[in-house]
Amino acid sequence: MSINIAFDREHIWHPYTSMLKPLPVYPVVAAQGCELILENGQRLIDGTASWWSAVHGYNHPTLNDAITTQLSKMAHVMFGGITHPPAVELCQRLLKMMPGNLTKVFLADSGSIAVEVAIKMALQYWLASEQPSKTKLISLRKGYHGDTFAAMAVCDPVDGMHDMFAGLLAQHYFLPAPESRFDGDFIANDISALEQLLAECHTNIAALIVEPIVQGYGGMRFYHPEYLRQARKLCDRYHILLIADEIATGFGRSGKLFACEHAGIQPDIMCVGKALSGGYISLAATLCTNEVARGISQSAAGGLMHGPTFMANPLACAVANASLQLIEYGDWQWQVPAIEAQLKRELAACRNSPKVKDVRVLGAIGVLEMHDKVDVAVLQQQFVELGVWIRPFNHLIYVMPPFIITEAELSKLTHAMRVITGV
Ligand code: PMP
Repeated sequence: MSINIAFDREHIWHPYTSMLKPLPVYPVVAAQGCELILENGQRLIDGTASWWSAVHGYNHPTLNDAITTQLSKMAHVMFGGITHPPAVELCQRLLKMMPGNLTKVFLADSGSIAVEVAIKMALQYWLASEQPSKTKLISLRKGYHGDTFAAMAVCDPVDGMHDMFAGLLAQHYFLPAPESRFDGDFIANDISALEQLLAECHTNIAALIVEPIVQGYGGMRFYHPEYLRQARKLCDRYHILLIADEIATGFGRSGKLFACEHAGIQPDIMCVGKALSGGYISLAATLCTNEVARGISQSAAGGLMHGPTFMANPLACAVANASLQLIEYGDWQWQVPAIEAQLKRELAACRNSPKVKDVRVLGAIGVLEMHDKVDVAVLQQQFVELGVWIRPFNHLIYVMPPFIITEAELSKLTHAMRVITGV
């Protein structure tokens, strides 16, 4: 039976779309390795890893086996008053990978919720520490942390997707995005705004939240590790918690297991998601230190006040265990640098295009920043005609493919990007 596209257009919301002028959607009936297979049989090389998540590729036998084995035992059970093997194994595995100071795990149902929980942790910590005035967060311009209300309140308030809600969101402090490029010199002035804000307002500030090194959906920018090192020092000096949102960067994407490692810093609270479950089922986690957990647990509430119905879903935990096992196995450590080298080589020519403002590559992420906003629907169709799945937005055409992508498949992606830019 063919997919009823007319019904889809009439009744189903897709991400960030209008019901009056729905954008085209492409019917995908299967996915295998690095390919999406359309209803008409066409195969597209996937440049998105389904928004950073499917790092091991689609229909992976190890991940399939993990989830089906768990399915035969138990699909779901509540986590209140109950625990189960996939959750315990997953948290053991996660803690082994994490910076050593992070010791406690909250299993959340999506990236945005992991960010909500991180913010809640920070606020509850300061309430319990009898510093109730510490209620504000600091975030960076060009930052993106999710679409729920607390998460929206720390996304870029002007250039992000949520400016229409400005008056309804919690009011926080925003600092200029670091100008120092990852691969350039550190501009000392970058950190001044944070220094000044903390000196003046630290008694009102609970936490600084950052996407370490890679600012994702707010602009696909890669900034200098020194910014994070200095930010960490300032947070310590002024008693501010540091929240690292590693939802996009975690598990190897930037070339390190976690992007914080580029700077050698340890956050007080960290969010992971996306690749955690290998792109199979929504799962995320918020981790914190003993100190943060002790504070929260001494608060008047007596615990962390969060507990979603599908918390620690066993199917999600089982597939995440398999995904992390593959990460532990370590192929990403040669796959990601190989992708980085090839992207640098094959995208370099795009610099010659008058349409292209900047070309950036870090780890398994390749970005073309265009001078003009792109027409997503038109470009998407051109990419499909070229046999690739690349989903541009705003001024950005970018890829973050599955780590298992072959040289030939990746060349098909970079070829399509060069064709689009006319070089
Ligand atoms: N933080 C970052 C850095 C992200 O890239 C995203 C997702 N794009 C989120 C948070 C929100 O995650 P989710 O879409 O799973 O809610």
